[in-house]
Amino acid sequence: MDCIFCKIVAGEIPSNKVYEDELCFAFYDINPQAPVHVLVIPKTHIASADEVSPENSAIVAHIFEMIPKIAVKAGVTNGYRVITNCGEDACQSVKHLHFHILGGKPLSEQMA
Ligand code: AMP
Ligand code: ZN
Repeated sequence: MDCIFCKIVAGEIPSNKVYEDELCFAFYDINPQAPVHVLVIPKTHIASADEVSPENSAIVAHIFEMIPKIAVKAGVTNGYRVITNCGEDACQSVKHLHFHILGGKPLSEQMA
């Protein structure tokens, strides 16, 4: 499968890793939109939030357990925003589920 984030997990494309365990991988976004901008992805290919199911939701729960630790590891000290873009209207550009962690400054009150 031609998936850029699967290739990052496999080490075929370089990334700036923040955290890794058996289920998830976290790395800095190549085009940061905040002083701290980290992406957290499942190691297995899940296309988007639309594809979360009883079979894979434990991975998503695990990711949410890890997000606070990943945020601290990335230097966030005063709060952060977690975003997942799903589908066309949300401008999802990479079709492998990912959670953006944004922080390091006061963020906009607008979300859209
Ligand atoms: P989205 O628009 O929600 O699908 O987000 C995809 C994100 O992946 C964007 O913020 C991109 O900057 C980021 N991205 C794309 N390719 C890479 C890469 N090779 N390494 C790190 N981040 C990437
Ligand atoms: Zn993938």
